[in-house]
Amino acid sequence: MTRPPSSSGSARRVRCRCGRTVLRQLVGNRAALDVTADADELTAAAAAALREPNRLDWCVHLRKGGPALQWADCHRREAECTRPHVIDHQCTAPPTAPARPGRTRKTSVPEGQLALG
Ligand SMILES: [Zn+2]
Repeated sequence: MTRPPSSSGSARRVRCRCGRTVLRQLVGNRAALDVTADADELTAAAAAALREPNRLDWCVHLRKGGPALQWADCHRREAECTRPHVIDHQCTAPPTAPARPGRTRKTSVPEGQLALG
């Protein structure tokens, strides 16, 4: 019996608010991470150089269904991974204002805490 490929499919190419093309995919089996990565492919070394504590790089496995992002644990296994890597997308678009409900009441929050000079 062959198990159908389930949760970790392939990455979807979508356009971000900021206009860049990004790859989106749920990566991981147990605790899947909703990854949004730049679609630009980098070498493993270049991607590793861009890594930050909150910015991970991903190893791109080419599958039948398209590119699939995997944890870049290849950094530990191999001196240099030959697969393309991508790096987490850092969005340059301004944050969207939270959708305002139709009826907004004046908040009764004391202003002392919130008002910043
Ligand atoms: Zn963006």
